[in-house]
Amino acid sequence: MQPETHDIMQAEYAKPIKMWTRGVPVEDDAKKQLQNIAQLPFIYKHIAVMPDVHVGKGSTIGSVIPTLGAIIPAAVGVDIGCGMIAAKTTLTANDLPDHLYGWRTAIEKAVPHGLTFKGRDKGSWENPPATVDSAWAQLDPRFQDLCAKHPRFKNTNNYKHLGTLGTGNHFVEVCLDETDAVWFMLHSGSRGVGNAIGCYFIELAKKDMQKFFINLPDKELAYFPEGTEHFDDYVAAVGWAQDFARLNRELMMANVVSAIQAITPKPFTADVEAVNCHHNYVQREHHFGHNVFVTRKGAVAAWPGQMGIIPGSMGARSFIVRGKGEAEAFCSCSHGAGRVMSRTAAKRKFTIADQIEATKDVECRKDKDVIDEIPMAYKDIDAVMRAQADLVDIVHTLKQVVCVKG
Ligand code: 5GP
Ligand code: MN
Ligand code: MN
Repeated sequence: MQPETHDIMQAEYAKPIKMWTRGVPVEDDAKKQLQNIAQLPFIYKHIAVMPDVHVGKGSTIGSVIPTLGAIIPAAVGVDIGCGMIAAKTTLTANDLPDHLYGWRTAIEKAVPHGLTFKGRDKGSWENPPATVDSAWAQLDPRFQDLCAKHPRFKNTNNYKHLGTLGTGNHFVEVCLDETDAVWFMLHSGSRGVGNAIGCYFIELAKKDMQKFFINLPDKELAYFPEGTEHFDDYVAAVGWAQDFARLNRELMMANVVSAIQAITPKPFTADVEAVNCHHNYVQREHHFGHNVFVTRKGAVAAWPGQMGIIPGSMGARSFIVRGKGEAEAFCSCSHGAGRVMSRTAAKRKFTIADQIEATKDVECRKDKDVIDEIPMAYKDIDAVMRAQADLVDIVHTLKQVVCVKG
């Protein structure tokens, strides 16, 4: 099955756009954004577009952008290192309590997350547990190096955000797989500190473009050429924020597991280290014989045999996948179903009754503030999975029974 390369008109000098959409709808605005990216002179070979593609701020969600000699900080975005972690437990469906409300509140207590149906928690720790202290100790030396040059990243909340979920579409779920095994799965990134780093460097890149008299088709695509003043600092800072995000997810997962262990009569274990993947990040990789930077914005690495997570929505199934290592896709796959409509459009179109109906088997929020996350605001995950059958194999199919949204 070949990727679709023919449906986007391109400037002669632009690189090809290879799309794994195959029948999944793509908005015109997303196509326009991709055309702008493909015109940049440092794109390596082509850009690869995943079936969950949709318009993003700065650059398109669901895109894989290989570059040679430059990085676009807005292509990574401001939630640097956002991604997913999943852990299979030794519990099965029979071990679940009759009512899942208790599990939901136990998770809400174990993970500071911003918004609950009862009001806000602070979204950060008042007294971070010892595990947060030791995780921060791992991150701190490199952070001090970054702050020596960029003191504005210093903020006492950085450390209090480690092991916390954040609001929006960040979530913690309890799921059952096709064998009725219980899994925990969660979605989060680098919180306030990643946001500060992302915003700061995006602004610096825009200033550099002015300084170098570079006119871009879209000013959000401002970049750092390798060898210029901020390039190495950005690489160090983004790498640090990605490590923060990965540890953030690990800590939350460990806390979710112990919170449920504390209220479950049957002892159980969870394979906490099984899958932990970023879906907004940049790193050095080797493709087609060259060392390049690969930016995945709403895309997951799918090297041969590599495990990844593709969530559906609050009411749809999610997938644990194994990469097939498709070279043309720069060894990537989608990061979810992707939105079909904006948050505002979803709020206009749907009601609380629709949300209740769409999530009737899920112990989750059903209030008006979560309507922008209604399952119908996302693409059909089955169509998205069919479109990338040459990128990943499905290893497990998960359906949530509890969903805690930030
Ligand atoms: P993003 O990182 O772009 O904000 O979202 C990643 C993907 O997560 C979305 O494209 C969507 O498919 C999926 N998703 C959003 N909310 C939920 C949720 O509550 N539960 C699950 N399982 N998936 C979700
Ligand atoms: Mn995020
Ligand atoms: Mn995300």
